[in-house]
Order: sequence, then C-alpha cells, then structure tokens
Amino acid sequence: MSVLIPKPEPRLLSIVIPCFNEAEAIGSLRKAMDDFAGGLDVALELILVDDGSGDGTWCQLTSWEPRNYTVKAVRFSRNFGHQIAVTAGLDRAAGDAVVIMDADLQDPPEVIHRMLKAYRMGYDVVHGRRLNRDGETIFKKASAWAFYRLMKLAGATHMALDSGDFRLVSRRCLDQVIGMREQKRFLRGLFSWAGFPQTHVSYRRPPRMEGKTKYSLRKMLVLAWTAMMSFSLLPLRIASAAGVLTAAGGATYALYAIGRWAFFGDTVKGWATLVILIAGIGGMILLCLGILGEYIARIYEELRQRPLYIIQDEINHFHHQRDAHPGIGVSRPVGHRHRNPQHQGAGGL
Ligand code: UDP
Ligand code: MG
Repeated sequence: MSVLIPKPEPRLLSIVIPCFNEAEAIGSLRKAMDDFAGGLDVALELILVDDGSGDGTWCQLTSWEPRNYTVKAVRFSRNFGHQIAVTAGLDRAAGDAVVIMDADLQDPPEVIHRMLKAYRMGYDVVHGRRLNRDGETIFKKASAWAFYRLMKLAGATHMALDSGDFRLVSRRCLDQVIGMREQKRFLRGLFSWAGFPQTHVSYRRPPRMEGKTKYSLRKMLVLAWTAMMSFSLLPLRIASAAGVLTAAGGATYALYAIGRWAFFGDTVKGWATLVILIAGIGGMILLCLGILGEYIARIYEELRQRPLYIIQDEINHFHHQRDAHPGIGVSRPVGHRHRNPQHQGAGGL
C-alpha cells in the first residue's frame, strides 16, 4: 500500500445527485442538504441531474433556493440511466472533493463528514460500504451479495465489496475517471480501477424516504452485465473452456465409434446419441457465438462515439454569499458551455 500524504480541507465540496422521477423525494432532500450545508465548514455545491423524469422533478429543481451553497441543475433530453446521469454531474463538478449520492436519502449526508476525514488523511477514494440494506427485498439483498462476490471471482479483484455509488473522490482521481468516456459505464468499477489510495466507511443504509425504487429488475440486470463485460473476460473464457471440453468429448466419442465399427460392425444404432450430440454441440456453439456477439456489440457501440448524454436544460442557482469564495463554485461556468449540441456530453474532453 502506498504511503498516505495528508490533504488539506477541500476548498469546495461537490455533491452529485442523479434524480429520476424523484418529485416526491426532493422536498426532504432539499431540507437535508440545507441542514448538512449548515454544519459544514467547507464551501458546497450540489449538482443535480434530472435523468429525463416524467414527473415534476425538473420543476422542483428549478425552484430550489439554496441557503448557503450553490446548485447546478441539468436536465437530460430523455432517460439515459443512473450511471450516465452521475457522469454528467461529475463532468460539471468543480470541487476538490466530489461525493456521489442518491436523491432518496438512502445515503445519509452525515456519513460525508467521515468521508472527508478519510480524504484529509490522504485517501483519494472513500467508498461507502453498506452494513445492511433495510427495506429492500430478500431477492435484491441476495442478488447484490452474490454479484459482488461473483465479480471478485471473475477477476475484478480491485472492486470494493458491498459498495454502491455513494463515495467521495478526490479531484485527481475524478479527472482520470471522467477521462474514460466508455458508453457502458460501471462507475464504481472505474473508480477502483483508477487506483490511488482507497478506503471505506461503513454505514447503515436506511430505507428509501419517499417514492419507490427507480432501479427496476431489468436496470439492475443490465448494470450487473455491464460490470461483468467491462471488468472481466470470464464469459469469453467460459465459452472457450466449454468449446475445448465439447471438442475433447467429441474426439473421445469419435474414437469409441470407430472402435465399435471396426470390432463389432453395429454402427446403425446410436441414433439417439447422435441427436443428443448434435443438439448439445449446436447449443454450445450458439451460446459461444452469443457471448462473442455481446463483446462485438460493445465494440460497435464504442466505435460510433455518440455523446454519452444530451442536455436539454441547464440552470445554476448561486446563493447570495457566493463571492465569499472568489473563483469557487463559478470556476466552471457551465451555463453556456453545453448549449452547442456538437459538444454535448463531451464533458470538455
Ligand atoms: N436514477 C437515475 N436514473 C435511473 C434510475 C435511477 O438517475 O434511470 C437515480 C434515482 O433517482 C436515485 C438513484 O439513481 O437518486 C438510485 O436509484 P434508486 O434509489 O431507485 O435505487 P436503489 O437505491 O433502489 O438501488
Ligand atoms: Mg435508493
């Protein structure tokens, strides 16, 4: 492990919050953020990303009046998904330290104080590790547990166990990660992969304050598959191993069949065996082709180089004491930067 070099308090802390149909939750979030900012000695900015909500989320974000912090809000032209929404927020964060958290207060803001402490000790990434998952179904708990272990088994050994996206990241690590513009993003993997000194703080995860989960089973499975495809070649290896095993089995059976023909001459029998073999091998070939196809589809997707997201609206609310921190919070005037569709989603990279 590398030696830790203590860091000073960040001049500005950014918090990135993706919001998808969170109209019900925004009131409590705003209150929690007002309280949190009140007890913080560091300048704070929030970056709220409306991931194409169909409810009143954007209205709520535009009317957000911050007390003693700054708010930047952007709205996507449609739902691009949680990982992309977080990416858009990270692209706009100006802080020396950046925290990613959910809009539903399942990631308690108090934990950020402990994350900041670890940051000052010299850590670049502080993962929030969940001690429990109250209010979630047994299926979600079990699948999440299995997922993190499977990823480790699949070779993603650098990935933090039981950590969602709630984490604090230093500017130098963030700059590396926002430089990675892959379309299919599994951010927690990218942060771990970037290296730098990492640690975790454990916390109890309360149930969602308002509304329902926005992570459908489909979205969860897609995320798990993205993680597997972007951090492991295990599926391809399984396909190759299955191919080798089938070929070895086939060769053995061929020897046996030749032996029967040479010594006993009863080769007409065995129709059932043939059918089973053809079906089995055919299935195996199709499966392996499918797995290959998954990787090829990803190559194609990356080659198209579409922007990761498209911004429809963007606003900034500055609180009146903004000038108390000259150059901070206004150092990246994003209000106009992303108006040009040519540059949308490029994140300045
Ligand atoms: N979210 C998003 N886009 C989506 C789905 C979710 O921006 O397509 C946001 C959501 O508003 C919330 C965060 O991602 O702030 C985590 O979602 P949720 O709380 O529903 O997931 P869970 O905690 O149930 O896993
Ligand atoms: Mg949640």
